[in-house]
Amino acid sequence: MLGPRLYRYTDDADQWRLETYLKHDGYQGLKKALEMGREAATAWVADANIRGRGGAGFPMARKWGTIPKTATTIYLTCNADESEPGTCSNREILENDPHQLLESMLIEAFCVGVRDAYIYIRGEYRLGAERLLAAVEEARAAGYLGDGVLGTDFNCNIWVHRGAGAYICGEETALIESLEGKRGQPRIRPPYFPTVMGLKDKPTVVNNVETICNLAHLFRLGGPDKFKEIGTQTSTGSKLYCISGHVKNPGVYETTFQVTMRQLIWDYAGGMLDEAHPLKAVIPGGASFQWWTQDQLDVIMDFDSVRAAGSNLGSAGVMVMDDTTCAVDACLNLVEFFAHESCGKCTPCREGTHWLVEILHRIEHGEGRPGDPDLLLDICENIGGRAFCLLGDSAIVPVQSSIQLFRDEYEYHIREKKCLAHQRYRLSH
Ligand code: SF4
Repeated sequence: MLGPRLYRYTDDADQWRLETYLKHDGYQGLKKALEMGREAATAWVADANIRGRGGAGFPMARKWGTIPKTATTIYLTCNADESEPGTCSNREILENDPHQLLESMLIEAFCVGVRDAYIYIRGEYRLGAERLLAAVEEARAAGYLGDGVLGTDFNCNIWVHRGAGAYICGEETALIESLEGKRGQPRIRPPYFPTVMGLKDKPTVVNNVETICNLAHLFRLGGPDKFKEIGTQTSTGSKLYCISGHVKNPGVYETTFQVTMRQLIWDYAGGMLDEAHPLKAVIPGGASFQWWTQDQLDVIMDFDSVRAAGSNLGSAGVMVMDDTTCAVDACLNLVEFFAHESCGKCTPCREGTHWLVEILHRIEHGEGRPGDPDLLLDICENIGGRAFCLLGDSAIVPVQSSIQLFRDEYEYHIREKKCLAHQRYRLSH
């Protein structure tokens, strides 16, 4: 199995300093891209088929291809607003290997023709922001950043902006609004497709940290053929999986897309926390996606296989629940998050998510009414597809998934005014 690439040196205490980064082949990928020239470097990225790690799995080079050919000013924005529940893989890079991100952003900026690039970092990531700012200064002083990068005619600056802690600013158009100093709320598309009308109404490429960081490795490895040796035919490169919940060793693990969910839980995360309590459900891609049960443990964790199995790889935030978990309580926990983070711009999400919380809360606390599961599903139907952005669609997934898989628990809660999972757990002990 592949050794780590993006996390290769993140355990080194001084990796965040330029001196250490250079000892580990730092900025060699950028040098290679500059030597090759823009056209050849771009062709490598297209051939490598690097797909977005932030959720959509959209190929990076294809995104570049949607920028109007007539554009004279293009911006690059790195989405470091990592806040999906169960997801924390970017944090390690931002805090312990920030030059890896800067080098990769410079390669992307060179390929796309960007002079000003921005990193929008989650407000709570204070150490990450401090390290990034220090890395930017080091890189600028050493000639990797600014005018005439490494003695070429390529000019590029990178600016670091801290968010204020709103989950919705991870949505690319809300991120751009926030970057412009406005309230972080999504924009309507069309016309605001970022690669057409983004920051300051100019074409803007938005990629997440993990996606961008693959570029330094593509060029250091020596090209797309080497890069594609890692992963599957349609999901190339390595992948960071964040595993949390009822496992022995929760954490972030870097491996290939060929791994199965079973391997992630047992070979990487050490297995179930208490093997006496089997897996009840697992969310493969962060809070926004469909739950799985034991039936999907052998699914390959690449973009297409996860989708074919009815969920989404999303941010690869794998959340494991054993049989002591109450499905209603777990669902309430997730929906409360979405209701809290709803930006309030559109009615279906602003009102609907709070109705969901209210009903889930009464079921969980022994005050549920017959028909509540169907009422919840009805509200979901009225949010789904009607909300302004994907947060609304995400908020309904835990409700639909948990009712579909564990309707008996909902009914038991309502009928008996107590929890079936907890009841089963008590009976077995
Ligand atoms: Fe805001 Fe929710 Fe509407 Fe998105 S769906 S615009 S987060 S209120």
